[in-house]
Amino acid sequence: MAERAIGLEDIANIDAHLDYQAVIIGAGVAGIYQIKRLADLGVRATVLDANADLGGTWYNNRYPGARFDSESYTYSYSFSRELLDEWHWTERFAPQPETLQYLNYTTDKFDLRKFMQFGCRVESMVFQDATNSWVIGLEDGRQITTRFVISGLGILSKPTLPKFAGMDSFKGLSFHASNWPHEPLDLTGKRVALVGTGATAIQLIPEVAKVAAQLTVFQRRANWAAPLNNAPISESEMAAIRGRYDEIFAACARSPGGFEHEPDRRGFYNLSPEQRRELWDKLYDEPGFGIWLQNFTEIFFDEKANAEFSAYIAERIRRRVNDPGLAELLIPKDHGFGIQRVPLETGYFETYNRDNVVLVNSAQTPIVRITPNGIETSEGTFDCDVIVYATGFDAFTGAFDHIDIRGADGERLRDKWAKGPVTYLGATVRGFPNFLMLVGPQTAASNFPRGAELSVDWVTPLLEYMWAHGHNRFDVDEVAEAEWVEHVKDMYKGMLLRNAKSWITGYNSNLEGHEYGNVRYNIYNGGGPRYAKMLSEMAANNYEGMHFR
Ligand SMILES: Cc1cc2nc3c(=O)[nH]c(=O)nc-3n(C[C@H](O)[C@H](O)[C@H](O)COP(=O)(O)OP(=O)(O)OC[C@H]3O[C@@H](n4cnc5c(N)ncnc54)[C@H](O)[C@@H]3O)c2cc1C
Repeated sequence: MAERAIGLEDIANIDAHLDYQAVIIGAGVAGIYQIKRLADLGVRATVLDANADLGGTWYNNRYPGARFDSESYTYSYSFSRELLDEWHWTERFAPQPETLQYLNYTTDKFDLRKFMQFGCRVESMVFQDATNSWVIGLEDGRQITTRFVISGLGILSKPTLPKFAGMDSFKGLSFHASNWPHEPLDLTGKRVALVGTGATAIQLIPEVAKVAAQLTVFQRRANWAAPLNNAPISESEMAAIRGRYDEIFAACARSPGGFEHEPDRRGFYNLSPEQRRELWDKLYDEPGFGIWLQNFTEIFFDEKANAEFSAYIAERIRRRVNDPGLAELLIPKDHGFGIQRVPLETGYFETYNRDNVVLVNSAQTPIVRITPNGIETSEGTFDCDVIVYATGFDAFTGAFDHIDIRGADGERLRDKWAKGPVTYLGATVRGFPNFLMLVGPQTAASNFPRGAELSVDWVTPLLEYMWAHGHNRFDVDEVAEAEWVEHVKDMYKGMLLRNAKSWITGYNSNLEGHEYGNVRYNIYNGGGPRYAKMLSEMAANNYEGMHFR
């Protein structure tokens, strides 16, 4: 890092004519850590969030069953030893309320709330070429000036609803799972309809089935899922985890996905089918993403290896579902295991053995309309009291598209990204000077806080470098951006996920332009360690690919 030419105490005086030196949008995991780093430097910065309080994903998603798929302790911030020593995760995969509590605890411990403003929806951001600054427009009409804008907008923060006729006519309660009501909602004895069978639905379905009189699940495409194998963490186990934190974070930094799980590199074809099955039997009973990320790497690249493993998981599902016809409906036939983000479940498949649960095959008998009393399909009507739409998100770019972001020559970001994100290193965009993205599109897919800390730990020294050198503006090199995008595309080649109908490829049937076949290169598939190395090398090389003035 460059030596700062100014004293720390002077830093807040830079750009005194602007409201802020830096504005962070989003008070989630990423935004909280970013404001911590800037506050430590004494920078005049603020965090704006549309929500009424902090937490982002963990503030919004309050549906029953909402919890981590990441091991709680690998989701911890690693930046403070004290925080690591103080916090006790009570479950291996913490439920949403505990994570929200953790983020509040962190914020209050470091006295960060005073930098945050809630109920502030950013509607526009216009770059001022003459002054190298941004004007941020809020929904309430206020305008804020700043040198830098740092987005912590979230990759899954814009829910998408389906477009069924009659949705407004429903007389009962209906909402997207991500907007589950904040006040207690008692579903005891209610008839509940649930549309979708993605990761959220897979967590939600077993919980609703326990209390509802009737649960009807509308499934268009089946999803692979594997057991979470959650368990409480005792005081002594937590003490042991605390003693291991350095080791845990080192393992996360080594692994492609930022988890403790590292791939089995013995080679799929070097082992016999029996030896492969031995590994899978072991992983199926272990907690978390091991079944996906500790597997043979061939399952991600090789059709035959993937088919053999998918057949293994299908067999496990058949063992858990009493009705063989129902089991077949729950086994995906259009894609192999692991080429979409794998949901983890607790009793999901067994839930379909209950008398009060019905699975409707919406591929065969599609939903035609929502009526005042429930859901009408091509085959019949399903009356209900509550409809939950677990229909996913406008992933990666949705939150950006909802802001009118205009760059140096008036170009709109949403136009530049009409066919998918175009970035330099997933952190910056050519034509949009002084705009930085924390864990933006085209960064390495990762256990989130591991990627967020990497992002923040790259952004913060970049700002220090600029202040130290008296720079007011950075721009991104055209060739550097084009080369990065090509590299991102290259990393999809050969991977089975390139054909997936998933948010990794930008597929979303409820969004125009996101139809199957219009691949959007949303993530960097080269793995966390390689991505981290590229970030640090370009920084060490005076931020190669960026121009300063
Ligand atoms: C149900 C669910 C479970 C998940 N489980 C895991 C998991 O186990 N492990 C994992 O690694 N990841 C998981 N994720 C991904 C999760 O999104 C990240 O882990 C992390 O919480 C993202 O943090 P963030 O700070 O980037 O964004 P978010 O938490 O999404 O926060 C973004 C914030 O930006 C605000 N915002 C957006 N647009 C505007 C605007 N125009 N103006 C003002 N504010 C705005 C939002 O209000 C929000 O508060 C899960 C996601 C979901 C939805």
